[in-house]
Amino acid sequence: MNIKALWEKAVEFHGHTCPGLAMGVVVSKIVLEELGDRAKRRELVAIVENVSCPVDGIQALLGCTFGKKNLIHKDTGKPVYTFYNRQTKRAIRLSKKQDALYRRPEQPKERQDQIDTILKRGRDLFNVQEVTISLPD
Ligand SMILES: [Zn+2]
Repeated sequence: MNIKALWEKAVEFHGHTCPGLAMGVVVSKIVLEELGDRAKRRELVAIVENVSCPVDGIQALLGCTFGKKNLIHKDTGKPVYTFYNRQTKRAIRLSKKQDALYRRPEQPKERQDQIDTILKRGRDLFNVQEVTISLPD
């Protein structure tokens, strides 16, 4: 799926457009590229360190939900997202770069401009690192 199709699907789930959701779409796209599109079959587990708009993008696009118990909230309030593929045992940790766009929501830029810029910059906004984690099966 291209970024536009992912965006539309996420907006339908989330109910409005916002820069936070755009971040969630970017995170999801990176995960689909890195860990594969197998979330619907429960192999993918997301550990999110905040509960805000980006998490809805993750739920909509990666199929990680509280109901399926493959969405874990570890509250640090940070824009950090870790994903674990139970099948391949690979895990990656995505953290928003310090210098990334949209650090301050009150910045004067138009909302739609922020969204467009986030979707365009994509992967550039995040540090992506391989990590080792262990979760119960
Ligand atoms: Zn939102």
